Amino acid sequence: MNETTFGEKRVAQLSQDELLRYSRQINLAQVGEDGQRRLKEARVLCIGAGGLGSPAALYLAAAGIGTIGVVDQDTVDLSNLHRQLLHETNDVGRAKTDSARARLLAINPTIEVETYTTRLCGSTAIELIRNYDIVVDGSDNLPTRYLSSDVCVWERKPNIYGSVHQFEGQASLFAPHLGGPCYRCLFPEPPPPEAIPSCAEAGVLGVVPGLIGIIQALEVIKLIIGRGDNLLGRLLHVDALTLRFREFNIRRDPDCPVCGESPVITEPIDYEQFCNRSISSTVRGISATQLHEMISRGQEVAVVDVREPFEFEIARIPNSQLIPLGTIPERLTEIPRTETTVVMCKTGVRSARAIEFLRGEGFENLLNLKGGLDAWREEVDPTMRKY
Ligand code: ZN
Repeated sequence: MNETTFGEKRVAQLSQDELLRYSRQINLAQVGEDGQRRLKEARVLCIGAGGLGSPAALYLAAAGIGTIGVVDQDTVDLSNLHRQLLHETNDVGRAKTDSARARLLAINPTIEVETYTTRLCGSTAIELIRNYDIVVDGSDNLPTRYLSSDVCVWERKPNIYGSVHQFEGQASLFAPHLGGPCYRCLFPEPPPPEAIPSCAEAGVLGVVPGLIGIIQALEVIKLIIGRGDNLLGRLLHVDALTLRFREFNIRRDPDCPVCGESPVITEPIDYEQFCNRSISSTVRGISATQLHEMISRGQEVAVVDVREPFEFEIARIPNSQLIPLGTIPERLTEIPRTETTVVMCKTGVRSARAIEFLRGEGFENLLNLKGGLDAWREEVDPTMRKY
């Protein structure tokens, strides 16, 4: 078991109420009263109060982590509720940090909950993470993931990693100061943005982030009480559809730009640019408002919708033509060669991918609808059905 720094500073006494509340875990030889005090002394930062952060924070609060920090900039959306169990139906429209605080304190009023309604950014991340003992990375985007990993390396904080994609999930413990790799050792370069569908694009079964988030909480608890074998140097992969757990050994990369022998990245970089360069530099975009104006003026515009048929059934832009992404290669002749052709999907990711492919097939002047149908609903037609 790795050494942690939680051994020295404790003195927190447990109240009668706490002794009773945690009696079933204090009864465990591996926890005991001393372990419970360590949990009470610990400060854990959850980055994201979404699919991973929800189960992680719920279990950490119930287990008696004394101080839980929650960073999230979003408000609760109806489509979050099937997996983000920190939030309830009545919370739709409310800041996630507010509903998270209310729920965590309802489960365990003896703990402290510190909230930050903001996106983690380079200028604030260091100071924030420095104030905590362990970071649970439940972020849903790559810029935040690289940022949190980098800062944890610099601040020598264990980073409990989790990610999900459809029915699959993975988890690990990144902690170069304990001998393991960091996120960049595994993924030195982000994949091109068009290759990573977000949850909104790809779909996710709520149970899967639930499973991974709970594994993250488990790793936090073991690290604090200093018991068991943790995921240092191991990447745990779960396929929920076959319910198979696999494990990969992962190593520190001596050439890692952040935790390697001669690090070249020693302070926060422009993470947005680092993760998005491929899309922003090569695909031209048009806003929903601009597109609407062109159509209203009677300009000849073809709109190609690359979503799936069921999505098209729910909502569509008038006079748009459905050619699902996967069918484009055999339907090239159907792609309009008008002066202005706009390609669209739900959020603008699949359509960017379609444009890159079509350019290779000799189609020029294709425009990507920025923000996709979601942006159209927001800017042009709020009555449109949402999914
Ligand atoms: Zn590294």
